[in-house]
Amino acid sequence: MATERCNHRCIMCPQPPILQEKDKTPFNLKLISLFDKSTQEIGITGGEPTLIGDNLFVLINHIKEELPKTAISILSNGVKFADKEYAMKLAKCRHHDLQIDIPLFSDIAEEHNRIVGAKTFYKTVQGLYNLALFHQRIGIRIVVHKQTYKRLPQFADYIYHNFPFVAQVAFIQMETVGLAKENIEQLWIDPFDYRTELREAVLLLADRGMKPYIYNAQLCVLPEDVRPYAQQSISDWKDIYISECEGCALRNQCAGLFESSREIHSSHIKRIEYISSDISCVN
Ligand code: SF4
Repeated sequence: MATERCNHRCIMCPQPPILQEKDKTPFNLKLISLFDKSTQEIGITGGEPTLIGDNLFVLINHIKEELPKTAISILSNGVKFADKEYAMKLAKCRHHDLQIDIPLFSDIAEEHNRIVGAKTFYKTVQGLYNLALFHQRIGIRIVVHKQTYKRLPQFADYIYHNFPFVAQVAFIQMETVGLAKENIEQLWIDPFDYRTELREAVLLLADRGMKPYIYNAQLCVLPEDVRPYAQQSISDWKDIYISECEGCALRNQCAGLFESSREIHSSHIKRIEYISSDISCVN
């Protein structure tokens, strides 16, 4: 948690930002020193981690020194990387295994801007290009809800044509906490009801040689031919299965549900009696 501040106000933010805070960097530097040396991966997130400015690179270099084998995953809205100098500074860290994941919510600037509560679509797009210019490994993330599902196929096509360099594209089922819970009426759609658009978007990218993934989804709600793209993406401490999952043949391969989804979840969750086809995960 680099900072709890953010320059976006996403309508479905699970962890609404705060306006002011004490600099967290000294605490985070100490924390990194205490990590198990065999830690596989550290996620740097927020809030928006680039709001700590060059301290982001201080954190990355400290991880490099303390945990030279550990991978780094950064979750950023990408706006700050519209500044080419800033993008270059990330590249100059020369980390051996670093990925930066950037959310983009539509191929239409106004739609994206409305969802993030800021006029930043073109800055995020410029940020993606600057990071690519410096050969950074980039993922694109799309949170799927009532306001984003309809254009998923067009959006996937837009990503293919404009960002063919990204390492992966993740379609993410919404976590219904924070602002997502407050704005649930405007956001909730049963994942079963967007399965057609999701399937089309995922297969469009896969057929063109890109790497789509589906995060936080229940396998029984997904069309069979896109189940291999689903990942075990929910953190252990908030991952649950509900009574409908008892005896399900896919339970070991299924991401399950967020703890917060006990009340609000797909009405099509139903145990699968047998595995009809190979659903080995795509890596
Ligand atoms: S019944 Fe539960 S475990 Fe089985 S696929 Fe559905 S959500 Fe996953």
